[in-house]
Amino acid sequence: MDFSRIYPSVAVEILQQSHVTMVGGAYNLCNDLARCGVGSISLVDFDTVSQSNIARQDFSSADIAQHKVEVVAERLRRTNPEIEVETYILNYCALSDEEHDRLFGHTNLFIFSTDFFPAQAKGNQAAIRLQVPASFIGLYAGGRAGEVIFWYPGVTPACYRCICKSRYQAFTQGQGNVSSTGGTIFDLRMVDAVAGQIDLGLLTRGEDNRYGHLIDQLGNRNLLQIKNDPTYTLNGRDIFRQYLGDNPANFSFTTIALPMEREPDCPDCAALHNTVAQNITN
Ligand SMILES: [Zn+2]
Repeated sequence: MDFSRIYPSVAVEILQQSHVTMVGGAYNLCNDLARCGVGSISLVDFDTVSQSNIARQDFSSADIAQHKVEVVAERLRRTNPEIEVETYILNYCALSDEEHDRLFGHTNLFIFSTDFFPAQAKGNQAAIRLQVPASFIGLYAGGRAGEVIFWYPGVTPACYRCICKSRYQAFTQGQGNVSSTGGTIFDLRMVDAVAGQIDLGLLTRGEDNRYGHLIDQLGNRNLLQIKNDPTYTLNGRDIFRQYLGDNPANFSFTTIALPMEREPDCPDCAALHNTVAQNITN
């Protein structure tokens, strides 16, 4: 591939040495990472392509009933013949930590884009255990807004669980997943495009170019929210208005990046911080 048109912004040679593990279905994002030169990708999903997927994912009617990861793997190889793709048709949540780390311990970036909360939650623990950067993509009810949460060891104080504390509580109280039914492919792409920006930043942090600077520019602002519907509110509160004000220019298709603090008693990352603190004391 000829990367000359993106070289000024992206450390392509770093991406070519990088391995990305994607759990779930942001497949157009995967394909776009392949376009940017990512060297190898593991795709994890047990789903097959169904009729309802065509309306909002990058599958065609000819793909029906095939395993999603197989269809996508073929597409990635067509986009970038140099890419190495591994497919895992399995239930991510059923993997033991040992199996997980044997399969994915070598990855440079995890992308969790499932609409199944336990998979996202398991991903947070895995990223922290392995000390590997991660991004988490979510679409809110009806696709009216979405989020990208990212975690980079030593840079972002708050992990996914710190940020989504209330979601963990709701889940243990038996409230299930929020359905993104109603969201269109354009809603998904708005969120995936922000995630892709972050993912390039996570993979090439420290390089002296636009994406190499991005993660440090963001710092602790590791919850990004994307507004798709001008009337979107959360529990009756217009969060975008709260941060962006009443100016008529505050309409929609906007992203805010919110500073996040660590939850001192977070079951996922507190141990990590205590170990670091202990090492400093010693
Ligand atoms: Zn945490």
